[in-house]
Amino acid sequence: MSERTLAIIKPDAVKKQVIGDIIKRYEAANLHPVAIRMMQLTKTAAEGFYAVHKQRPFFNSLTAFMSSGPVVVLALAGDNAIKRHRELMGATDPAKAEPGTLRAVHGTNIEFNAVHGSDSADTARFEIGYFFPEMDLVAR
Ligand code: ADP
Ligand code: MG
Repeated sequence: MSERTLAIIKPDAVKKQVIGDIIKRYEAANLHPVAIRMMQLTKTAAEGFYAVHKQRPFFNSLTAFMSSGPVVVLALAGDNAIKRHRELMGATDPAKAEPGTLRAVHGTNIEFNAVHGSDSADTARFEIGYFFPEMDLVAR
């Protein structure tokens, strides 16, 4: 069943100049970009995006990091896209991520871990809507 998920190429990965490598891996996995946006989040916008984490000890640091430089936000579509994207990303901590996953290859540590991916259908809907109006999502 085709579904959509939200991906963010985080500021650390943009600084490392691996936008192209990451998008190449999405395409190789048949996770088709249906919307792409490059932007720099404000601290407030990062806080809104990560609101579910606001009680976590790393919330302030995470939202400072996510607003520290440009990001690339993508909606990806494909069969079982949410779960398959999480598998392609690897574990939150790059040191624990399977070899060859995006975080194992491009992440630095548990915070600077290169990419974000929605973790459920509900969060995907919220997160895609946070960045893209429905009319910006192409059909593919
Ligand atoms: P994931 O991105 O794998 O879904 P979480 O939703 O748990 O992971 O956390 C969101 C983001 O917060 C992570 O991707 C990472 O950038 C950061 N983060 C998670 N855990 C920690 C931690 N213990 N210390 C610092 N940053 C963290
Ligand atoms: Mg998460």
